[in-house]
Formats: sequence, structure tokens, C-alpha cells
Amino acid sequence: MTRAARAVIDLAALRHNLQRAQTAAPHSRQFAIIKANGYGHGLVPVAQALAPLLAQDSGFGVASLEEALLLRNANITQPILLLEGFFQADELAAIRQHRLDIVVHHQDHVAQLEQLGASAEPITTWLKVDTGMRRLGFLPSEAPAIWQRLQNCAATSPRCLMTHLACADDLHAASAQQQIETFQALMPKQEMDRSIANSAGILGWLGSHADVVRPGILLFGASPFVDESGEARRLRPVMSLQSEIIAIKPCRQGDTVGYGGDWTCPTDLPLGIVAIGYGDGYPRHAPSGTPVLVNGKRVPLVGRVSMDMLCVDLREQPHTKVGDPVLLWGPDLSAEDVARSAGTIAYELFCGITERVPRHYVNEGVSREIPHG
Ligand SMILES: *Cc1c(COP(=O)(O)O)cnc(C)c1O
Repeated sequence: MTRAARAVIDLAALRHNLQRAQTAAPHSRQFAIIKANGYGHGLVPVAQALAPLLAQDSGFGVASLEEALLLRNANITQPILLLEGFFQADELAAIRQHRLDIVVHHQDHVAQLEQLGASAEPITTWLKVDTGMRRLGFLPSEAPAIWQRLQNCAATSPRCLMTHLACADDLHAASAQQQIETFQALMPKQEMDRSIANSAGILGWLGSHADVVRPGILLFGASPFVDESGEARRLRPVMSLQSEIIAIKPCRQGDTVGYGGDWTCPTDLPLGIVAIGYGDGYPRHAPSGTPVLVNGKRVPLVGRVSMDMLCVDLREQPHTKVGDPVLLWGPDLSAEDVARSAGTIAYELFCGITERVPRHYVNEGVSREIPHG
């Protein structure tokens, strides 16, 4: 390996987090949501680590056919749900062939499914109801008739009624409770499975558990709640974003640091240059003062983040040497903290890690590198 920037992915922590979801919602089946390349952690290695822990009829959720086929090609045999359904009718042949479940959220979906011929293996469908997110799904009043059409349609087998919560990350949101109540009042209870909860629902809204839960961010150890870190929920961070100090510069009082000369040295100090930047997915908007761990101790980022590098003020760590380890987030420095400082959320930090950053998978102390892409 040449450049030190890397993401170490702790598969034991990942499995621990799934078990936390199973403990929190013990009567629900789990559909592990691993869209966007497993929230940046690597789709296939994440699925392979979780698959042995999933009960019968639990499965995975992804956002596209391409992601689902990567999983099937890696011998993932569990149900896989396409969370946005299909985008073009010509995806339906592969959906059938690979036994993928689909979300049906639009009239066009229903019409296209009705035009398909019958088959020995009907496509399992999840009907999406919009109870307040105002994104995908049918109105509650439309749901019974659409469900009936899917039941009459020879090509499909409707299995689950689902909805998505808009404000579950705020534990005081009245709207989340309203969404749950609207959804639970829909159609006779016994007729189908129901699914409401994302990570925030699983950990914070017991009334949302229903038959199937859909954990995403919690699997990766970050809290879904505003102003809280995963640790408070006994989650373990899965990704450690790491690099090294590649230079130390004596900076004089009044010197300005980085592009735009955004930060002025208040006094003489040692400046550490770290080999990681926004080209790796570290947020360019992280302001001076954002915490970075050098040799396990917090120091502040200073100046603008550039593509391949960022700078830290080493006054508190004067004995730092070139080659010393740097942690951008992971255990001891939560992605939630960094995200808060940079005005974003841990989801975006994880998904933003770029292809050039090698992922190293650690599994109970055994490490291996999977080249990304
Ligand atoms: C992404 C997604 C989830 C997972 O959400 P988290 O907040 O990451 O737990 C659940 N359900 C649907 C429909 C999603 O798109």
C-alpha cells in the first residue's frame, strides 16, 4: 500500500449492531438495508457478514437492480427488496429470474405488472403507502383498491404493506405517531405483513415495529437520532477512516494555512499535514475546529480541507512524527460528531467515501483487503 488513507470495516461490530436491532424488535423480521454500497462500507462484504445472522424470511433491501444482482452473484439467497421498485418495465425479466421482491409505489407499476403474463413464480410485491413522507407511495385511501389489483394480477403476489416515517429521528415528533396510527388503521390486520420502521423506528418507536423492520444506519453503528451518538444506544462503529501524518511544518504567528488563506496561525505552532481530503470523501465543509484524532488524541482541523490533504494544529501534540496514525472517525471519535461539525449527517459521510479509499475488512482479528469497485 502506498497512500495511507483507508477505511477499516469491522465486521464483528456490524454483526453486533444487527443483533442490537434483533433484540430491540424481537418479534419482527429484519430486512437489512444496505443500499448505496452498504452505506459506503462495501455491499457484498456487508451482506456476506450479515446473511448468516438473518432468520428465515428476513432479507436485504437495496435501491437498484444492479445492487441486487451483485448480491445474487455473490450467492446471497435471502429475499432482496428493491426499495424503489423498478424504473423500466424491461427490468421485470431479471426481477423474476432472480426472485427479487419489489416495492410498488406508483400506478404505472401496477399497469406494467398487469401486462405481464402469469408465471409459476409470481413477483413478491410490497405496497408502499404514503402516510406523510410525501415522497413515494399511494394515498391511504387508494391502498385497498391497489392491493386488490395486485392480488388479482397473475404476475404478482402481494406480501407486505409498507410506509416510511418522515420525522422518526426526532423522538418528540407528533407526526411520527400520527403516521404510525394512520398506517395501522389501514385495511384488516390479518391480511398481510406490515412494515414501518427504519433505524429510528426500531430504537425509538416501539409502535412501529410491526412484522418487518428495515434497519439501515444503525447497522453501521451511527445513531439515527439528532444530537446523539450510536454509543448511547450500545451500537459499535463499523467504519474507521484512517490516514497518517505525511509532513510537519513549523508555522509562524500570522501565517495563513491552505486554500484561500482561511486560517491564520494565532501563534507559532507545529502544523500536521494529513493524507486525506475531499477526494476521499472527507467533507470539504468541515470547518476549522473539527476534531481529528492524532495518536489517539483530539486536535483541531485548521484551514480548508483540500482534495488530498488536510491540516491539523499540533500544539497539543507537539511530539507527533511523520507517519503517526490519524483517525478521522471511528471508535473514540464518532462520525456523528464530525458530521455535526461539518453540518451534515453520518449517513452522508459514510456514503461519500470514494472508490480510491481501500476498504480493509477485519473479522474477529483477521484482516483482509478487498480492492474497491
Ligand atoms: C434507507 C431506508 C431505510 C433505512 O433507513 P435508516 O434511517 O438508515 O435506518 C428504511 N426504509 C426505506 C424505505 C429506506 O429507503
